[in-house]
This record gives sequence, C-alpha cells and structure tokens, in this order.
Amino acid sequence: EKEYGEGVYRLQQGDFGANARLRLELEHDLRKALEREEFELYYQPQYDIQRNELMGAEALIRWHHPKHGMVSPAQFIPLAEETGLIVPIGEWVLRTACRQNKQWQRAGFLHLSISVNLSLRQFQKHNLIGDIKRILKETELESKFLELEITESMAMDNVERVIRKLNELKDLGIRISMDDFGTGYSSLQYLRRLPLHKLKIDQSFIRDINHDADSAAIVSTIIAMANHLRLEVVAEGVETAQDLQFLLLQDCRHAQGYHFSKPLPAMEFERLLNEGG
Ligand code: C2E
Ligand code: CA
Ligand code: CA
Ligand code: CA
Repeated sequence: EKEYGEGVYRLQQGDFGANARLRLELEHDLRKALEREEFELYYQPQYDIQRNELMGAEALIRWHHPKHGMVSPAQFIPLAEETGLIVPIGEWVLRTACRQNKQWQRAGFLHLSISVNLSLRQFQKHNLIGDIKRILKETELESKFLELEITESMAMDNVERVIRKLNELKDLGIRISMDDFGTGYSSLQYLRRLPLHKLKIDQSFIRDINHDADSAAIVSTIIAMANHLRLEVVAEGVETAQDLQFLLLQDCRHAQGYHFSKPLPAMEFERLLNEGG
C-alpha cells in the first residue's frame, strides 16, 4: 500500500537530471511550502521490545503538495538541503516535534521521548546549539526527552569539530543517535570517539535477517557490540513477527517498523497512546 501520492511515483522514476523542469517547479514550491503550511509531521512509534512498551516516536516530515499530493522526504529533503531551505524547515520540524511531545507529556505520557532527524546543513549551522536551547525553552520540553538523529556522513566532516558539537549537545542533556548505522564508511575507531547514546541499525540489514545469514550475523554483531559499549540500539524497519523474534533473542532492546506501526499523523499517534501503546 502506498503512502505517497501519484506525483511521487512520477518523481521516483528518474533523477531530476532528466526532469529538470519538475525539479525547478518543486524548488519553487518548496520556497512557499512553509508559509502555506503544507508540511506535517508524522510520528512513528518506537518500542522497548523486551518490555513491550511504547517509548517514544520518530518525527518524519510530510509535504502535502497542492498538485503532486504527498511528496516523499527522500525527494524533497535533498532539494531543501541544496537550496538551504532545510534550515528554516528543520527549525520548524524541531519546534513542532518538541511542542507536540510536550503536549503529550502534559496529557499524562510523562516519559515519552521524541527523535528528530538532523540534516547536514542544520548540523553544520553555526548556531545550532543556540537554536535548540531556544526551542526547548519556548516549548518547555526537558532536554532529556529530545533525541537527535545524525548520520555517519554528517559526522565525517572535521572530526574535532564534530566531537565538540556533539559534546555541547550532550552537555545540554540531549541524546544523540547514529541513524542508518552500518551503511556509512566511518571506522569503528572513529565512531568510538563520538559521544553517542544510540545506534539505529539500518533497515537494509533488518529486512534480510530471516533469509540472509550475513545480514543476520551483522545485526547480531552490532547488537552485541552496542551492548558491550553500553550504547542503546534500535532496529529499524522491523516488518514481521519473525524479525521481532530474532531481535528479541539477540537481546535487542528497541525497535520500530511497520510490524508495530507506520508513521502516523499526530491525532492517530495520540489514539495509540490512549489505547495504551
Ligand atoms: P530515516 O530517518 O531512515 O527514516 C526511516 C524511513 O523508513 C521513513 O521513511 C519511514 O517511514 C520508513 N520506515 C519505517 N518503518 C519501516 C518499515 O518497517 N519498512 C520500510 N520499508 N520502511 C520503514 P520516510 O518517512 O519516507 O523518510 C525518508 C527519509 O527522509 C528519512 O529516513 C530521513 O532521512 C529523511 N527525513 C524524514 N523526515 C525528515 C526530517 O524531518 N528532517 C530531515 N532532515 N530528514 C527527514
Ligand atoms: Ca531517522
Ligand atoms: Ca534510518
Ligand atoms: Ca535513511
């Protein structure tokens, strides 16, 4: 079943090289999308699978394009990144996600946390720390309930600078997770130096754990390593009961994926909370 509209199918057929007019059109529309309030956040539940408890959500942006329907972030985030529009969009995402999480906490879900994806430009932004402090203050969300997801490629920049920045975030009380873990090119030696709280095992490995011995070996190795290093670990893209069974046996603590739930609009996520997760 498809989450995104027709326009997206058309978009996904080729890169923008062969489709320069469409790219220009989207870029133009992207500039207007914030003020026209065309963005929405969806929330995908994250579970503690050992205790069978809903822990929090990952915020995932959606763009309701007036003509193309729902456009995938995999399409417009890179465009937003290239044009710099990601900076105001990313700030909107952070503020909206923090405000929403605080609202759910006020409704009684006291320990719920929210994960937000950071883009490269946002991460490199000189005043990222200041922006985040301001947003936390404005939304009254305690920093320990905010988690930021970065990727290996973002952390490849200038090692010392990356470590300094991550430490500043950590000192604020924010949690940092390494998204798409296992797909980048950074060495474990390097990763070990980063002040991370969590590894998110990329869904490409999870997808194959039950029919590819190599993927299964990689996943169990990452989980064992994370447990030894006292890093939390999340398995992403868990789609079947069989996947879940494997992860439980490997002592994996956290998971998200279609097996539990697709990303949901705020109202639906709230219904899930009220039903007890
Ligand atoms: P991601 O951060 O790796 O997010 C996980 C993606 O996997 C999401 O796609 C989610 O809907 C999808 N997914 C979740 N469970 C399953 C599953 O069981 N099976 C499969 N096949 N897929 C699953 P989505 O929402 O289309 O987002 C795509 C990417 O766009 C994200 O990948 C992230 O890199 C980026 N993105 C999304 N929202 C934001 C945002 O607010 N800011 C930034 N900078 N990037 C975002
Ligand atoms: Ca993510
Ligand atoms: Ca991911
Ligand atoms: Ca990804």
